[in-house]
Amino acid sequence: MDIFDVAVIGAGPAGSMAAKYAAKADASTILLEEHAGPGWPVQCAGLLGQEAVAESELPPGSFILRGMLGATVFSPGGARLDFKAKASKAWVVNRRLFDQAMLARALQEGANLRLRSSVRRIRREKDYSALALAGGEEIFARIVISAEGVSALLARRAGIAPPQTILSGAQVEAPFAVEDPEKVEVHLGAAPGLFAWVVPLDENRARIGLCARDSGCEHLRAFLKTDVIRKRLQGSPVALNVGGLPLGPPTATAALGLLAVGDAAGQVKPTSGGGIYPGLVAAKIAGGVAAAASLEGDYSKLRLMEYDRLWRLAIGRELEIGMRVNRMLSKMSALELDELMGYLASKPRIIKAIEEHGDIDRPSRLMGKMLLHLDWDAIRLARLLGYALE
Ligand SMILES: Cc1cc2nc3c(=O)[nH]c(=O)nc-3n(C[C@H](O)[C@H](O)[C@H](O)COP(=O)(O)OP(=O)(O)OC[C@H]3O[C@@H](n4cnc5c(N)ncnc54)[C@H](O)[C@@H]3O)c2cc1C
Repeated sequence: MDIFDVAVIGAGPAGSMAAKYAAKADASTILLEEHAGPGWPVQCAGLLGQEAVAESELPPGSFILRGMLGATVFSPGGARLDFKAKASKAWVVNRRLFDQAMLARALQEGANLRLRSSVRRIRREKDYSALALAGGEEIFARIVISAEGVSALLARRAGIAPPQTILSGAQVEAPFAVEDPEKVEVHLGAAPGLFAWVVPLDENRARIGLCARDSGCEHLRAFLKTDVIRKRLQGSPVALNVGGLPLGPPTATAALGLLAVGDAAGQVKPTSGGGIYPGLVAAKIAGGVAAAASLEGDYSKLRLMEYDRLWRLAIGRELEIGMRVNRMLSKMSALELDELMGYLASKPRIIKAIEEHGDIDRPSRLMGKMLLHLDWDAIRLARLLGYALE
C-alpha cells in the first residue's frame, strides 16, 4: 500500500500553494480535485491586491486582465469618496487562468495531481488517513490538508468548527457603462454584511456583485435595479456566479492528522471579502508544517497546531481588525455612512494617505496612517468609532 506523506483536498489557490510547499519540503504529496480542472466554477470578482499577487509567486502573466489605480466609494445617500493613485495597487484577474497557473507551479515542485477525484470520506487509522474517492478507490496519506473551500464538509467531520459566519455572494458580468476603467466602485449599505462592487473589465464591461448576510441573489437583483446601476447597464448579464464567503476563522484549524486552509479555515479578509491573500499566506505555512510533521511521524493535533499558531502570527491580527471594521460598518445607519463618507471626502490629506498607503490586503496599515490626519471634526465620528471597539 502506497502512503503519501501529504494529501491536499481541493486544487483552488490555497490547495495548490499548500501542495507546492509540502512538495518543496520533500514530502510525497498528492492533490485531489473533484472537477476536471482547477478554477471552476468561478466564484470571485477577481480583484487581487499587490500582496496577493506577490504571495502567489507567479510571474505577471496572462491571468492579469488590468491594473486598478483607485476606487470610488459610494454611501447610501450618494456621497462619494474618490481616490486614484499613480501606480496600480490591485489587479483584475481571470480566476480560471490564475488557478491553473498556481496548480502548474505545485506540479513543477513535484506534487502529484488527480483530477475528477472527489473525496467523500476520510477514515483515520493510527498512522495514516484513508481518503475514499467517489468511485470507491482509496488514497492513503499520513497528513491531510483540507483546502475544500467554503463548504468544507470533510474538515467539519474531522472536528474543525465552521467559521463565525458565511455570507451569501452573487455576481454578474454584464455590458456596462464604466465610469473609470481604472477604478473599482464600492457601494456601502447596498447589502447587509459587506458591500456591493463594480469591477471594470474594460470601458464597457464589468463584474457587478455583492456579499450579504443572506439571499445574495435577491440583494443583487435589487442592487441592479438601483438608479446608480440600472441606468448604466447596457444589456443582459452574460454570466452569474454565486458562492459563500466565510468570515471569522474557527478557534482551531488543526485536528488529528488534518489541517484546514483557505476558505475551509475561514481565512478571508472581512473588510473586502478577499480570500486569496490570506489563503496563500496560510497555505505556505500549512504545506511546510504538514511536510515536517509527516516526515517526523508526529500526526497529533498538538504538533499540527504549530500551523495554527504561525498563520495567526502572520495574518490573525489583520483578520481580527477586519472583523471589527466589518461589524462597525454593518451597524452604521445609512445617514451615518453618508456622514462618514462626506467627512473623509472633505479631507484632502486623508485622500492623499489613501492614495499613498491604500492596501486592500493589509488595510490596518492605512487605518494607522489615516488616524494621523483626523482633526477635531473626528470627535463627531467618535460614536461611530465606538462601534468598532465594542
Ligand atoms: C462572489 C465572490 C466574490 C469574491 N471575490 C474575491 C476577490 O475579488 N478577491 C479575492 O481575493 N477573493 C474573492 N472571493 C473569495 C475567494 O474566491 C475565495 O476566498 C478563494 O477562492 C478561496 O480559495 P480556496 O483555495 O480556499 O478554495 P476554492 O477556491 O473554493 O477551492 C476549493 C477547491 O476544492 C475542490 N473541492 C471541494 N471539495 C472537494 C472534495 N471533497 N474532493 C475534491 N475536491 C474538492 C473544489 O472543486 C475547488 O476546486 C470572492 C468570493 C465570492 C463568493
